[in-house]
Amino acid sequence: MKQSKDIVKDFQIQQFQHDLISWFEKEQRILPWRQDQDPYKVWVSEIMLQQTRVDTVIPYFNNFISKFPTISDLAYAREDDVLKAWEGLGYYSRARNLQAAVREVHEQYGGQVPKTPEEISSLKGVGPYTTGAILSIAYGVPQPAVDGNVMRVLSRILSVWDDIAKPKTRKVFEEIVHLIISKENPSYFNQGMMELGAIVCTPTSPSCLLCPVREHCRAFEEGVQNQLPVKSKKKAPKAIQLAAAVLTDCDGNVLIHKRPNKGLLANLWEFPNVEVDATIGPDYQQLQAFIQSEYGVNIELDAPFTTIQHVFSHLVWNINVYSGSMTEEVVEQDRLKAVPLSQLEAYAFPVSHQNILKEYVKKR
Ligand code: SF4
Repeated sequence: MKQSKDIVKDFQIQQFQHDLISWFEKEQRILPWRQDQDPYKVWVSEIMLQQTRVDTVIPYFNNFISKFPTISDLAYAREDDVLKAWEGLGYYSRARNLQAAVREVHEQYGGQVPKTPEEISSLKGVGPYTTGAILSIAYGVPQPAVDGNVMRVLSRILSVWDDIAKPKTRKVFEEIVHLIISKENPSYFNQGMMELGAIVCTPTSPSCLLCPVREHCRAFEEGVQNQLPVKSKKKAPKAIQLAAAVLTDCDGNVLIHKRPNKGLLANLWEFPNVEVDATIGPDYQQLQAFIQSEYGVNIELDAPFTTIQHVFSHLVWNINVYSGSMTEEVVEQDRLKAVPLSQLEAYAFPVSHQNILKEYVKKR
């Protein structure tokens, strides 16, 4: 592995900064979080943009900011309302961590997002990338903001062949950005790098002929832009088989359950479901037994009406979904409710269970 100083040796740093920043000034997309430099809005947008495309984030960002326009609005909102506003964006721990961190900013820092890397990065859910993005965009501090896109772009521009899937490679790129970032305009430098990765130097077909920094790009010069970045493959996600049921009582109310307050999709609502094992017997028997023992409800199931697949980064859910009825009244608790179908939309469900609901409504 080469040292960062050796990598940027002979690189025309000032000219590169100038070409990147002047391109960003002219060509940047108009995005709602670019309308001002409010650190709270920059923070919300950067958390939403993790693992999620810009087009998807725009309506969520607008809705979220209209519901929680300030740090104090979000700090003391009901968690269910925050999750509802996040519903469909996935990776719900981002929303919970954001709210916890915003509450800390409200209580410990008088509602002002702190300005030092040490303080910002100590907040829940704020890693080195978000720290760099907030500090540079909102406060003009020359701090690297290095994510997978920036590593891809820089590995091409500087012809770096280290594996970007390895955590230590991120450190190398952070050191490189420390050396090449504009001290006069770190905000536009970092945003320019992100924008270049989003619209020009894309993963599979970089538009080199339109690229504002092509003259600086070593991969282009060597004709190896399609071989970079080097990224080792992750393990295939583990497949899990589940059976779920949309169950109604004699008044047509639907049984829903709130997931545990820790772990995957914590505190979101779901239709009753259980992981099944085909070697034990038919899935509907396992589902029936589970609902009886967990919720104390006897049920009758119809034939399955859909199967839903949902892919997470580390696992895949394959859900066989039944409809059915409860043969007795359920005893409602905080985490178990029988709700009229028309009121289900007030509850925050993960995407897989929103899809179950859509299919259920279609078939009725
Ligand atoms: Fe990416 Fe091509 Fe531009 Fe190099 S010249 S930064 S490979 S788009």
